[in-house]
Amino acid sequence: MKAAVFHGIKDVRLEEIEIPRISPYEVLVKVKAALTCGTDRKLYLRGHPLFKPPFVFGHEFAGEIVKVGEKVKGFQKGMRVVAANSAPCNRCYYCKIGRQSMCENLTLRLSGAFAQYVEIPRPIVEQNLLEIPSHLSYKKAALVEPLACVVHGIEESNIALGDTVVINGLGPIGLLFVQLAKLKGARVIALDVRRERLDIANKLGADELVDASRVGDQVKAVKRLTEKGRGVDVAIEAVGIPEVWEKSILMVRKGGTAVLFGGCASGTKITIDTELLHYSEITIKGVFHHTPQYVKKALDLISQGKIDTDSLITDEFPLADFSKALEMMINQEGIKIAVIP
Ligand SMILES: [Zn+2]
Ligand SMILES: [Zn+2]
Repeated sequence: MKAAVFHGIKDVRLEEIEIPRISPYEVLVKVKAALTCGTDRKLYLRGHPLFKPPFVFGHEFAGEIVKVGEKVKGFQKGMRVVAANSAPCNRCYYCKIGRQSMCENLTLRLSGAFAQYVEIPRPIVEQNLLEIPSHLSYKKAALVEPLACVVHGIEESNIALGDTVVINGLGPIGLLFVQLAKLKGARVIALDVRRERLDIANKLGADELVDASRVGDQVKAVKRLTEKGRGVDVAIEAVGIPEVWEKSILMVRKGGTAVLFGGCASGTKITIDTELLHYSEITIKGVFHHTPQYVKKALDLISQGKIDTDSLITDEFPLADFSKALEMMINQEGIKIAVIP
């Protein structure tokens, strides 16, 4: 089969490799649509401490089951499915206290998608492999994994009806946050340095746009858009830059919440004014990854037509032209790029 194989930092090659074999508990999926993701970009530029090359690049995909292990229950050949990129163990301390995103034995896969076929490991088959409703395209369904992370983030944000929420950073994750915050009944301020991304946020229903490349002080610019300049009820950081984490915290009103969602480079730190934290009683939350309940909820939201996926999947290439998709992803052109094997 054809596959885009990651050989090391800045080295991904389109190659002919063997179709993956499956165990009796696994499923083989013929990939129909795969999507690029910010995590892929980071992996390409920095590598990953847990995953040693070579491996097939990409982790967001949907497709058709072509082979089912004899011990697998509930799935048949021909079924249209989407899989998340991980599954919890359900046995460790964190799983038992209901915090599965912090599972100590998380089966995590950041590979397999940019290929003609992908095998689904047993824990994912058992928990995070979902049948796609017949009316839904593979391309739309492939958005389940990033959306599941954002559903997790939004559920942790405690947005109430009528709250003012700022989304800092309008990449694919930020643009999903814009949509979910609107669904939660918030007034949404969307902030980014790029005009084309602000335009998409506008189309997705953002109430106020802040072009961070034009305003001098982003914190002041956001606060000015709130009643008496008090600050927002909820600030969400969707970039993964320590400086933006700090600014997000400063945008929050007294008693408000900052959700720090974007993963920063390891070893980085932020500074918080202790007085501000003490007297303002703000809540600062880190949110990571997803859980099976959020994966299911994400597919439901896409299936119900509540998420505008077309505005997010801006480009499409056949797998044979993977290098073009890769180049766009590296240069951060477009939002998400679909790769069709
Ligand atoms: Zn992803
Ligand atoms: Zn666990």
